[in-house]
Amino acid sequence: MASAENHPSIGRVHSPRPLQLDAAASYECPVCRHGQIQAMTLMDAYACNFCRHIFEANLDQQTVHVVDGVQPMGWRWQGWRWQPIYQSPNDITLTLWVVGLALVVCPAGLVALGGYLFPPLGGHYPGQLVVDLGA
Ligand SMILES: [Zn+2]
Repeated sequence: MASAENHPSIGRVHSPRPLQLDAAASYECPVCRHGQIQAMTLMDAYACNFCRHIFEANLDQQTVHVVDGVQPMGWRWQGWRWQPIYQSPNDITLTLWVVGLALVVCPAGLVALGGYLFPPLGGHYPGQLVVDLGA
């Protein structure tokens, strides 16, 4: 019978994996999703045997972070798959809305503010079309 100490072997896709992130087990690489990440000897880190990325594991929070990457990438172990930590499309959408609104409001606001602070001095603008309705 399968026991909890049954370590998944490389090449078996549907091999049983512990629900908890365990230093003695191997997991699917969250970066390339092809290789297996395994704990490095005498280190609190995981390494992928395919893409060679190195991960720093936090067993208390069940998370791994890419150590040798340019941008911060992290995943939380859900027991059967990795969930990205930094994936936040709502924040990106909100940022795009704020930037877009600022680009629309700012130029028009500057023109309106200039017209409000420096109103025309009595007479007419040069080139202004004056329409006398003869009232
Ligand atoms: Zn990999």
